[in-house]
Amino acid sequence: MSHSKVGIVGYGVYIPRERIETAKIVREREKKRGKELEKVLEKVRHGLLLREKAVAGHTEDTMTIATEAAENAIRMAGISPGEIGSVTAGSESKPYAVGTIARHVASFIGVGENVFIADLEGACNSGMQGVSFIDAEIRSGRIRYGLAIGSDVAQAERGDPLEYSAGAGAGAFVLGKSDLIASIEDIAPYSSLFMDFWRREESAVPKHFGRTTVEAYKSHIIGAIANLFRKHPDLSLSDFDWITFHQPSGYLPMKTCNALTQDEIPYVGDSSIAERMRLTEHDIEKKIKPWLRVLDTGNTYAASTMISLASLFDKAKPGDQVLAVSYGSGAYSNATWFEVQDGIEEKRGRTPTVMDYVQRKSEIRIDTYHDLIRERLSRIKRRLEIPRMVGEIEPVNGSYFSLSLCKGCSRIYYPARETCLASDCSGPMEKKRFPRFAKLKNVSKLPFKKRWTSNFELLENNKMLFVDADVSDLKPGVRLEGVIRRLDYEGKDGLILYGIAYRPVFREAVAVVSKPKPIAVAPTQYA
Ligand SMILES: [Zn+2]
Repeated sequence: MSHSKVGIVGYGVYIPRERIETAKIVREREKKRGKELEKVLEKVRHGLLLREKAVAGHTEDTMTIATEAAENAIRMAGISPGEIGSVTAGSESKPYAVGTIARHVASFIGVGENVFIADLEGACNSGMQGVSFIDAEIRSGRIRYGLAIGSDVAQAERGDPLEYSAGAGAGAFVLGKSDLIASIEDIAPYSSLFMDFWRREESAVPKHFGRTTVEAYKSHIIGAIANLFRKHPDLSLSDFDWITFHQPSGYLPMKTCNALTQDEIPYVGDSSIAERMRLTEHDIEKKIKPWLRVLDTGNTYAASTMISLASLFDKAKPGDQVLAVSYGSGAYSNATWFEVQDGIEEKRGRTPTVMDYVQRKSEIRIDTYHDLIRERLSRIKRRLEIPRMVGEIEPVNGSYFSLSLCKGCSRIYYPARETCLASDCSGPMEKKRFPRFAKLKNVSKLPFKKRWTSNFELLENNKMLFVDADVSDLKPGVRLEGVIRRLDYEGKDGLILYGIAYRPVFREAVAVVSKPKPIAVAPTQYA
């Protein structure tokens, strides 16, 4: 079906498998409170509405989680990656200060060279801001399809209240004009200089003014909705079937909902607009609360609104009216109005749902959590040092990843390159192929005395790294899927080396038909 409107043609998410209950972290940090501890726990659970958060594993970062979300979005869209003409990535946890997430993801998933690329700033608003930019590029006729990503592995100082909410996750939307899942009816912004939260250059963690964010958040979310309604005089909140707001916690969206039930709506001077912005308690229960994914993932920053929207689309019906209001500190909000389209029925089931990822989880101990955040915040080590399960595999179909190993400098290049990037390194380069789907032959834990073995050495010897699994999940014959992971880095300022690791097959639908549909004959990056 062709549609004259621009909208979402595919969406995908990724949530790391490691999860920790917020209460475990609170108990550790607030020990000295003694009898007061139970009160703090109660406040975090029922006041802030924080329950559990996703934590990126040793081999994951903002790029790798964005990659899986983007693969899922393209898979659901049913297009070839080569048809994408523009990629944006919003994040505030960029692995490189200079060097884009968007270009890495584009190359990792097979998007070609004839493509516009940008990483976007704007804190947690940057994922949805990408949607607005891609929407405009398609409307102008410059591109046919575009990919907007929001991805974050949120950082926080140990013991800072931010730590209770800082989660990890990614969302990705493929936008286009045909076979729509949801059309974009309009987008309205609201932004002002309001530095409630920031992170200085070279600082590992953000700082913030605590409760100041409450006012910043409420005023910008409400401001963006008011701007949308100013453009559409017949539109009111009661017209929407589903509504979702950015979720730093459950508290802030609920606080904003509450403000919208009042006789006097704050921050809106024009009473004809304020009238149309009123919510009822029933609306809050039925239309907004079901999409509080922060309860499962913690705050996923630039991915937050995209993940909650995806969980909403997982359930929505054609014709549903949807309002998503993103927010980023600094401060920026976009109110995006969607209408769900027929494509949603046909495309469901091509990729895992948000709840599939939520339920794929492994509860970690506080010690494991400490190891993960210590590694994340200290970037001085020469190499990634992780406990590793390694072994051999055999391919199950004809689809491969192609990697190059440079024997001169021991760098891993994915996708494969012909020559080493270091001009003074003469290689030689060894090109290797690794299957997308495989069967496990054998597995063992790397002994302690071999902990400095690099993943380069393993790949060179055809030993694979296994992730997202316990040893008990890895029985010979188990079906595996290859995933893009961070395999190593060169100290605090060298390259980050990405490559292939294997996990037990999670994306069954992808495993059944592993090849995307072929690229159309003519170059299609330009509409
Ligand atoms: Zn080299």
